[in-house]
Amino acid sequence: MVFIEDAQQIILTRTELQTVENVSLLQALGRIIAEDAHAPWDIPMADISAMDGYAFSSQSPVQEHWAVADFIPAGSERSVQVATGEVVKIMTGAPIPPGCDTVMPVEEVEQTSCGIRLKHEITPGAHIRKRGEDVRADDLVVSAGSVIRPQEIGLLVSLGSTEVSVYRKVRVAILATGDELLEAGANPTSGMIINSNSYSLAAQVLEAGGEPLLIGIASDTAEATKKKIMEGLSFDILITTGGVSVGDRDFVKESIQELGGDVLFWKVNMKPGKPMAFAVLGNKPVFALPGNPVAAMVAFEMFVRPAMLKMMGHSRIFRPVVRATLTEPMKNRGDRPHFVRVMVTLEHGIYSAKSTGNQSSASLASLTQGNGLLRLEPNTSIALASFAEITLLDRGFEMGAPPAIMH
Ligand code: AMP
Ligand code: MG
Repeated sequence: MVFIEDAQQIILTRTELQTVENVSLLQALGRIIAEDAHAPWDIPMADISAMDGYAFSSQSPVQEHWAVADFIPAGSERSVQVATGEVVKIMTGAPIPPGCDTVMPVEEVEQTSCGIRLKHEITPGAHIRKRGEDVRADDLVVSAGSVIRPQEIGLLVSLGSTEVSVYRKVRVAILATGDELLEAGANPTSGMIINSNSYSLAAQVLEAGGEPLLIGIASDTAEATKKKIMEGLSFDILITTGGVSVGDRDFVKESIQELGGDVLFWKVNMKPGKPMAFAVLGNKPVFALPGNPVAAMVAFEMFVRPAMLKMMGHSRIFRPVVRATLTEPMKNRGDRPHFVRVMVTLEHGIYSAKSTGNQSSASLASLTQGNGLLRLEPNTSIALASFAEITLLDRGFEMGAPPAIMH
């Protein structure tokens, strides 16, 4: 039996970064950019007006009435001449004509019979967005290793990109095992259950940014198990569920070994999730997860998700943890760390948590009542109202701070 952190370490040393592909910008959402992106041009490309108003030269002598010489709408490329003492009407985003350096916002002027009158004094240079003020040509705008968020997509497209180079999504084969399993949609008779694990695990793969492929159910024989495992090896990762405990019909671990796989650990010091193995077979990571539905999902959280995120280039591979006050005492009398399903709520800036009740590793319903996992160490109790650290399951990977723009 291995400790959780050792198991994670073993897994992470056996998982490699995916290769890179070019995808369209929107397909890159949530993925990791593989190369630095530099700006090919300035943003804005010219000095532009930040307001609807009137552009003029602050060097002009102060005067009561200004004549309006011309009009420059946004998108105009026409060259406009403005004489001293004149203003030109200009819209937000339009280029400032030569000789002008300040904009009077339309709210600050009055129409008069011979032009306009400025209601208040205005600071020279006001209401102009200077060329390159946002981004300068050659700036590093998105550094390799960053998560592509909506704002990175907007910035990249504004700098002329239509595609971006990202790490490939991890393709994950999911194999269920068990003679008691029926495919989704079936009408179970007593003694049979529907294969729910393939679905919950596939959903976890999707949520982590991977591509799941359900490769079916292997019946409880060594032959069937080996055949299905071989099928799963054409993907980046293979996950199996069930059949990895000590029962007479548990063939997964032996099948991996008989196929030449290297089982790096079997059984992890945790509850739920103990009966699981990690192996490398045909150079592919194989996660043999428990059969019990909650155990399978918790083991995915602890071991598969961080590995997938690492493979896809993420540097933050663990979920965010919050400190929450317990609204009930908790005790772990067992000798393994217990991941207690909890419901975390946030009120007035303070997280509080309570158990979802039933903690059976088979009770998927109890997991739907919760949104976090509290790690309760062996032979430990936590008193009512004291703090505990809880992993929030409903929050995605932390996307990280955007890189600084260097001028
Ligand atoms: P096993 O480790 O194969 O003995 O499975 C442990 C428990 O998990 C048994 O009660 C199984 O019926 C259940 N189980 C195994 N595989 C699945 C699955 N794919 N979907 C739902 N329950 C499962
Ligand atoms: Mg089984």
